[in-house]
Amino acid sequence: MIPKETISSIFEASRIDEVVGEFVSLKKRGANLIGLCPFHNEKTPSFNVSPVKGIYKCFGCGKAGNSVNFIMEHEQLNYPEALRWLAKKYNIEIAEEEQTPEQVIANNERESLYVVCSFAQKNFTETLWETDEGKSVGLSYFHQRGFTDETIHKFQLGYSFDKWRGFSDAAITAGHKLDYLVKAGLTISKESTDPVQPGQEQQPRFFDRFSARIIFPVHNVSGRVIAFGGRTLKTDKKVAKYINSPETDIYSKSKVLYGLYYAKKRIVEEDVCFMVEGYTDVISMHQAGIENVVASSGTALTVDQIRLIRRYTNNITILYDGDNAGIKASFRGIDLVLEEGMNVRVLLFPDGEDPDSFSKKVSSTDFKAFIKENTKDFIAFKAQLLYSESSHDPIKKAGLIKELVESISLIPEPIYRSVYIKECSRIMDVDEQALLSELNKLRRKKQYDTPAQPREEFNAVPEELLTLPDGEKPGRKITETQTEHQERDIIRILLNFSNEKVSIDSETEEGEKEVVEVSVGTLVIHEISGDIEFENPLYRKFFHEFITHEGEELSNDYYIQHPDPQISGTAIEILTTPYQLANWEKHNIPVNTESMMLKQSVLHAVYALKIRKLEKMIHDNQTRLKESSSYEEQIILVTEQQYLIKSKQSFSALLGRIILR
Ligand code: ATP
Ligand code: MN
Repeated sequence: MIPKETISSIFEASRIDEVVGEFVSLKKRGANLIGLCPFHNEKTPSFNVSPVKGIYKCFGCGKAGNSVNFIMEHEQLNYPEALRWLAKKYNIEIAEEEQTPEQVIANNERESLYVVCSFAQKNFTETLWETDEGKSVGLSYFHQRGFTDETIHKFQLGYSFDKWRGFSDAAITAGHKLDYLVKAGLTISKESTDPVQPGQEQQPRFFDRFSARIIFPVHNVSGRVIAFGGRTLKTDKKVAKYINSPETDIYSKSKVLYGLYYAKKRIVEEDVCFMVEGYTDVISMHQAGIENVVASSGTALTVDQIRLIRRYTNNITILYDGDNAGIKASFRGIDLVLEEGMNVRVLLFPDGEDPDSFSKKVSSTDFKAFIKENTKDFIAFKAQLLYSESSHDPIKKAGLIKELVESISLIPEPIYRSVYIKECSRIMDVDEQALLSELNKLRRKKQYDTPAQPREEFNAVPEELLTLPDGEKPGRKITETQTEHQERDIIRILLNFSNEKVSIDSETEEGEKEVVEVSVGTLVIHEISGDIEFENPLYRKFFHEFITHEGEELSNDYYIQHPDPQISGTAIEILTTPYQLANWEKHNIPVNTESMMLKQSVLHAVYALKIRKLEKMIHDNQTRLKESSSYEEQIILVTEQQYLIKSKQSFSALLGRIILR
């Protein structure tokens, strides 16, 4: 826990221009600074930084926030991690709040394991680069595998001497306790020692786990070393090729993905995570310029690992060796991914190739092109693979249908399921209705087996895409899509009330509720900018003018006397037109209370505009969906549609509450 006062001083010390300036080259423009947005790809700068307000805002992608938000987003850190990052930059000491004696002991013990692992990594790396054995055995092996020095340094690879306890002795000499070496899994200790025979050397009571191996350190998400993998260079078949650290207090195999620390930023940027088998695949792909890649290191995928990835993306692509052996065995793990509502795609390498070997055969450009051209949707992949084995055998085919529909039944989103059913029916040449009835059977059974979970009904035809299930008018088709009326209402409110204060419920940085007073202008700008571009060009121009002068408390006169005739004209026109109270009259709210009910009035206008805008987007999306003939595109559109409908529903609910009050 970081104390509140420290959080305040971190916020106070952090200057937005300095923080952003560490990552983005900024140029002055008026009171603000401008640069290329680090969160989306752009050629002309639309990323604005306001040192006065302490915020950034990208007018291209809409991302906005303060210094802490920026570090969270840019460095993919959580809130306390971002605070620590800034504290370090500004030399602010964080005195952690008091802990119970048990917490202190537990933390110290974990901390000791981190320290020991960090020492081990440095020791192995030093052995690799600076000793004769390390260089002639370890380093030359890495080079022979095609790893560059840069790559070897980046992944902090190492070498452990071909000695009983070369590492353990060095660690103890450096002051580390044997107890922690054992707890960290680096040293194996023998409980009892055999009696020493005369003339024989005393057997060591403890020895190195990783002796005579090249070393791959395993990092957690924040980059600390928590475990190791070691590969033997001996060809002796009795020696295991790879060994790994055991489970420890800081390393739980099922919750760690190798390479995630190096991959997380790229995973967010590329919005997809590649899954490979092991250390060498991850490293080789990095060297080939593909950095959004992780490995589950010799185990089947777990739910924890999947959720770890979901912090960064919803899309996983699994890369398979060309020898097919592991593919069917992995299907169960993939069902887990589907169940988490993530999108799974699959890439199969040519016969006998894995990502590691393939990356050495082709150029980086060709590798990327290969991935792009050969990635398939998982369900389609599974259908094709199994279909090719069973197309002439009706019994096998029936089993296959069942298996496929089982995978599909795990997908949480009904619309996804329906798209997949269509696709499978096409690939396997089976009646869609037959697949649907199998699916419904499975879903019912599942519902029965897991009673606690409410589940959505399955719809054969995604009818909800064609109408708006918002409760206002069931089955209403969307036709009108103009937002002009709502935009005008917003401008009217800004002209009349922008400097008035309203109280809104807000949350502090610690998530505590608080009531803050803001001006109507600020409230409207925060609710709308970044989300919505006005359609009417005059209102759009007007709104941008408002944003530019946020917080300056300008009077109506400023707009009425504006040198730009479009702005002054619009202001005059709106201020001189009697307000049509269509909405308010309908709900029996007297006109003269509008200023009394200012907050409701403002939110009403904002939500009405948002709903209209969403309706328009839903309408456009729906048209595209009807016209689309690509299965891939349909999936994307359907997901977007769901999201839009959900957003619209929540705004409709909010609007309903305002009117009822
Ligand atoms: P070779 O040079 O014989 O191809 P390799 O080091 O590339 O050996 P493979 O047998 O090809 O290893 O295995 C591919 C990947 O699988 C490796 O990157 C390794 O990380 C991983 N792997 C294999 N066995 C294990 C294991 N027991 N534990 C963890 N990872 C493993
Ligand atoms: Mn290999």
